[in-house]
Amino acid sequence: MTKALQACYATLFILLLNFPVAAVAKGAVNFSDMEHEINLQPWRTYQKLLGLQSTAESYDELTYLWWLVRKAQAENLIYFYDEFNQTVKQANSLINGNTPPEIQTRLLFFQGLIERRNGQFSDAIVTFTEALKLANNAKLSSLYIFAKQELAYTQTLTEVYTSSLLDMQAAYIEAFALQDQYLIATINETYGAIYGYLDDFEQSIAYYQRALDGYQNLQYPAHIAEALYGLASTYRYWKKYDIAIKYFKKYQQQIGYTPNSNISFFSAYGLGMTLAEKGDCEQALSVIKQALALKGVKDYNAELYKRQASCLISFSQLAAAEQALASADAIFAEMPELRGTTWQIELLKIKAELAHAHGQHESAYELLKQYNEQYIQLLIKNSTQRLLEVRANQEGERKTVSEDLQRKSEKIAQLQQERMQTINAQHANFNVFVAVIALIVLLVIVAQYRSNRKMQLLTIKDPLSGLYNRRYIFDYLNDAVAHGNADKMQLSIILIDIDDFKKINDRHGHPVGDEVIRKVADVGREVFRQEDIFGRIGGEEFLCVLPRTEIGAAEQIAERFLTLINQSTLVKWAHEPITVSIGIAALSSQCHDINQLYINADQALYQAKGLGKNQINVFNSPA
Ligand code: GH3
Ligand code: MG
Ligand code: MG
Repeated sequence: MTKALQACYATLFILLLNFPVAAVAKGAVNFSDMEHEINLQPWRTYQKLLGLQSTAESYDELTYLWWLVRKAQAENLIYFYDEFNQTVKQANSLINGNTPPEIQTRLLFFQGLIERRNGQFSDAIVTFTEALKLANNAKLSSLYIFAKQELAYTQTLTEVYTSSLLDMQAAYIEAFALQDQYLIATINETYGAIYGYLDDFEQSIAYYQRALDGYQNLQYPAHIAEALYGLASTYRYWKKYDIAIKYFKKYQQQIGYTPNSNISFFSAYGLGMTLAEKGDCEQALSVIKQALALKGVKDYNAELYKRQASCLISFSQLAAAEQALASADAIFAEMPELRGTTWQIELLKIKAELAHAHGQHESAYELLKQYNEQYIQLLIKNSTQRLLEVRANQEGERKTVSEDLQRKSEKIAQLQQERMQTINAQHANFNVFVAVIALIVLLVIVAQYRSNRKMQLLTIKDPLSGLYNRRYIFDYLNDAVAHGNADKMQLSIILIDIDDFKKINDRHGHPVGDEVIRKVADVGREVFRQEDIFGRIGGEEFLCVLPRTEIGAAEQIAERFLTLINQSTLVKWAHEPITVSIGIAALSSQCHDINQLYINADQALYQAKGLGKNQINVFNSPA
């Protein structure tokens, strides 16, 4: 039983020891679950990540890769694009066939963002498609949906609206099925952007607003900024310039979450473009100049140069306008994907304005004609019956989808409730398990304590009377004499023997004899004091040790005992009077040996028997 108990304790101890240790070790290096933290506090988490660099490096390669992924993610959110590109490059150099698909997908995703920012749209489409495949194979649903919408958005940038809308539709349904607020918000944002490009401003605003609400619920600062920027841009395209300016200013405030000053490029860009379109060229030119001085994004710069050129033409600064147009041309030359898009085609229109300002009416006419032809081609390409059908289809589908979603979310709520119930039941079971284990441990301890005590009592107690046994009493006496000064101790003993006990046994049987022994023991328990050691040392023979009691006092106590025996109901048991004889002796200068003390008491008892029993006899030491 002791071994089992030890094993039990050992198990409990190991469990207790391992729980917190395992949790701490895991928490220190687990970068894979930082998604929410990064989105919530990109700048602070970035600094935290930098502080953990050496820890991550010294851990295994997988941990380090996760660290790089999270670092890149934070850098992207705080617009540290150079660092972001570096981190992605470094992580890409570490991946191999064994790298988990989640990391590979995320890196492809980042790679796609880099390519798109560089204006390499077809590369970005290939990369996002690859990420999409990988996520699909590995059943990484969130990443799959992210990749899908980034792909759709990139296609929108190259004006392939049809497939992008279909992709978005699919992503939307999947995100709703996952009930992931963040995913849903990002999809709303992408929808906002796509509808913006489709010049469907009302829809665009509605989607951006939904995205903004979602991000505000989640308190993701970088994403809130993005949604505000989207709203500002859409109002700008909608020619609601004053609201646009209001949102650009809100955006400018919101981006304070990152210390990167380059980020003000986007607000300067937005403001500059809006002011130019509003016709406030004076202010526009100064803001555009500020924007171009910042580290921006290529295709955005091309737009700025175009607006700059227009404004310069209106101020008749034709040479400067020509220079601005050349800069825009150079950018479009570097970005073949943008060839044939509205952005590039618009250059022809501005060039026509410039030619007109120069008085070159012939070439102005030629340029304007080219612009119109290309623009019409583009309209035909995009505003085909097909696109209209897709849109109509989509509205219809959205209705069925929202009904479907309603059903799905009810189902999910139900499942969640069931899950909670299961979890609660599991908790309850676990608690019961712990309680049972604790109870078993307690019972074992109690049982062990009891059995130990029993064993201990067995060695010192007489089972028949419940009094101390012979061994205990004589051990006690020897001990007292060995450790004390026998002379000064004034220890007395009272030896008691039941008279004619044999007869009782003979006449009424042993069980009655036993009962008489027990009753005599009870009388002793009543008479003797707490500090006296009363025990049964033989068949019907009892001994009481009275420490610090001189012989006279012992005699008085013995008399009380004898009186009580005579008054007691023992007679009922034995059907005749029961008596005892008592011999008393004490330690003295003549007697300081236990054997001698006992012999003296026995001698006194023997004399009491000889004098007619039922009496007390005190040992008289020879003078
Ligand atoms: P005396 O007055 O001289 O003491 O006479 P006695 O009969 O008591 O004398 P003796 O000491 O010869 O007899 C004791 C008897 O006690 C002998 C034995 O059968 C009986 N006895 C001893 N131990 C027990 C016991 O545990 N239970 C019972 N019922 N009888 C016991
Ligand atoms: Mg006897
Ligand atoms: Mg006797």
